[in-house]
Amino acid sequence: YQAKRDRTGVEVYESKRDSNTPDRLGLLGDLRRALDAGDVELHYQPKVRFDGQVAGLEALVRWVHPERGKVPPDEFIAIAESSGLMPHLTEYVLETALAQVARWRARGLRVPVAVNVSPRDVHTPGFAGAVAARLARHGVPAGALQLEITEHVLLEDPQRAADTLAGLTGHGVKMSLDDFGTGYSSLVHLRRLPVSELKIDRSFVARLAVDTEDAEIVRCTIDLAHSLGLLVVAEGVEDDETWERLRDLGCDAVQGWLVAAAMPPEEATAWLLARGSRGWQRPKAALPAAL
Ligand code: C2E
Ligand code: MG
Ligand code: MG
Ligand code: MG
Repeated sequence: YQAKRDRTGVEVYESKRDSNTPDRLGLLGDLRRALDAGDVELHYQPKVRFDGQVAGLEALVRWVHPERGKVPPDEFIAIAESSGLMPHLTEYVLETALAQVARWRARGLRVPVAVNVSPRDVHTPGFAGAVAARLARHGVPAGALQLEITEHVLLEDPQRAADTLAGLTGHGVKMSLDDFGTGYSSLVHLRRLPVSELKIDRSFVARLAVDTEDAEIVRCTIDLAHSLGLLVVAEGVEDDETWERLRDLGCDAVQGWLVAAAMPPEEATAWLLARGSRGWQRPKAALPAAL
């Protein structure tokens, strides 16, 4: 294992950096088997505009381990990314999501779906062509697929990443920049990446209504994105006040538990059908007791 000294010189064990513990190797093998057996599921979380129209649904991977129960995506995505399993996981997610989009379209539900892709995918030779082939196989137009990337795609080989992204947008796939504001955010990245949407990370959105600095950051991000012609989605909207602030700041769409958490396919279908052309209606806030 990898030991590291903290600032006081005390040795600390960093499980996150340790990619070869029996635990991680065990999980990796289990994940590979779960993918082969089709035991990994996708749940879908809506992105809605302020008029209630459904802008799309984001596919989020869900894995229930037979002994450990739910494993958080952040945990097994990191393992897949550092082990070479990532391309396989992404193929699985794309395949499952596109099959779902095709089923929804067959029922008249023409809603775009967003799939998260990792930096590893963007550096896999032939990725753009493989996505285009998969779209064609499912009879899904490229405009019905969005891919969410993070700025990390530019860290390793920016030229190759740029080529892949140009290939994808050339086929008509829409790109979205996820988790904006965390890590390496810079204006250079925004200029270099052919994205049409920017998602403000939940860490800024969560305290928007109570923290004036976060509110200022969100306001500037929205203005910057708009001046570059991008749509802005806020992640992690949990309450009415945050919704109202974002609407007043000119944000385009929101995602979060206020609207809906990620839902299994049948529940997402029912959710879409229930909204129909009416869109999502924000529940009326409870009246103060004094009234
Ligand atoms: P992300 O793409 O930024 O997804 C947003 C995360 O925030 C999701 O967590 C979602 O369930 C959660 N979330 C949504 N609304 C709220 C809210 O109102 N409050 C709070 N507290 N959380 C909310 P999840 O599903 O655990 O996924 C975590 C991350 O794992 C994702 O972050 C994404 O980076 C990654 N991930 C998930 N599915 C996939 C996938 O299929 N492929 C890849 N490469 N990464 C994935
Ligand atoms: Mg995402
Ligand atoms: Mg995100
Ligand atoms: Mg996030």
